[in-house]
Amino acid sequence: MAQRADDVSTYDYIIIGGGTSGAVAARRLAENNINFSVCLLEAGPSNHDITISHIPGGRFSMYKTSLDWCYQTVPQKGCNNRTMAVPRGRLLGGCSAINDTFVTRGTKADYDRIADMGNPGWSWKEMLPFFKASETFHSTEWHQADLDIHGTDGPLHISMTPLAPISEKILESFIDNGFDYKPDMFVQGDYEGIGHIGRTVYNDGLPYNPINGEGVFTVNTFLCGPQARGTVRLLSKDPISKPIIDHAYLDNDLDVAVLAEGCRLCHEIIMKGRGTKDIIVGAWPKIISHPNDMIGWKEHVRTFASSGSHPAGTCKMAPESDPMGVVDSRLRVRNVKGLRVADISILPILNNGHPQILAYAIGEKVASMILQDVDVSK
Ligand SMILES: Cc1cc2nc3c(=O)[nH]c(=O)nc-3n(C[C@H](O)[C@H](O)[C@H](O)COP(=O)(O)OP(=O)(O)OC[C@H]3O[C@@H](n4cnc5c(N)ncnc54)[C@H](O)[C@@H]3O)c2cc1C
Repeated sequence: MAQRADDVSTYDYIIIGGGTSGAVAARRLAENNINFSVCLLEAGPSNHDITISHIPGGRFSMYKTSLDWCYQTVPQKGCNNRTMAVPRGRLLGGCSAINDTFVTRGTKADYDRIADMGNPGWSWKEMLPFFKASETFHSTEWHQADLDIHGTDGPLHISMTPLAPISEKILESFIDNGFDYKPDMFVQGDYEGIGHIGRTVYNDGLPYNPINGEGVFTVNTFLCGPQARGTVRLLSKDPISKPIIDHAYLDNDLDVAVLAEGCRLCHEIIMKGRGTKDIIVGAWPKIISHPNDMIGWKEHVRTFASSGSHPAGTCKMAPESDPMGVVDSRLRVRNVKGLRVADISILPILNNGHPQILAYAIGEKVASMILQDVDVSK
């Protein structure tokens, strides 16, 4: 229980930031032992009465409001000097309350590499129980889920994105072009193929409304594992001033080539693949045209690419020998007693996918490590 003396409350654990990882850690610590006092400090309001934060797609109404930290990058050289918004949730739930809800875990190789970098306990096999701990998976008739790797009784409800009328046609085009169909690959940690994606949404009641006649459809190409490394620097001594954020997007030739090739390949598959070639007639609006060579696709991505909002890695987890390391593999800040950092900032490399499921798992893992380290004799 919290102790009060001379108007000062003391707690066993203080968690700063009730975001994706922080809220999970607070819950697990609090539910483990009723004698522990846990204080969760969140800068923004509770999400409870903010209806828009419970609606998939409602996030757009929260941007550039008091529910968003409203950061901005400096001009991005690799993107023709465009600046980009850096939305970050400023409410209970953090970015998980304003995100796109997509569920991927990254590849097995990402985690095995993180462990091989000198971070014991972070391999795919060791992270799997934490992924599962968060999740209650709701299976769907049409989807062949690998039920062995899903969780069944966690607080986070996950279901598959409903099929759109064109989904089967897109699948057909990719399979026609040699992609293996692996329905649940995004949670199995093996991404070579084509599969379906889940969302942290269940029973949203939002049906797809197919429209007869002309329709518009978009393929999003994601650059995972970018080579360029950005920076976050202080603007002034004022802790309230916004930092200088430079993601260094497309500031590396390999990143540009991979993203451009991803766009080119998707375009080719959609335009020529068996399932879609007779349905997709061309660019929209009709007055624009798609590039027809790699030079054109590279310019296309420099002009139009935007952020997937997955920045990470400002408090790198690393062994003592790494001068850039901030926390050790148990997320303890070097040379500071009783302080840990546990959120997406600790990643030494970005996972190949979306990071929210990993943020939930980091919350699960830090709570488990803290509880292992508790000295019950005190
Ligand atoms: C627009 C958008 C779309 C995204 N889409 C997806 C997606 O579809 N799938 C996916 O997997 N990932 C997605 N992400 C990324 C994912 O949501 C984040 O990487 C993840 O939620 C980060 O979790 P976190 O715990 O590290 O930080 P956060 O969830 O951001 O938590 C940080 C918390 O700390 C609070 N805080 C900050 N400073 C203070 C302070 N001084 N005092 C008290 N509290 C403070 C903040 O208000 C916030 O609540 C998206 C992100 C955004 C922004």
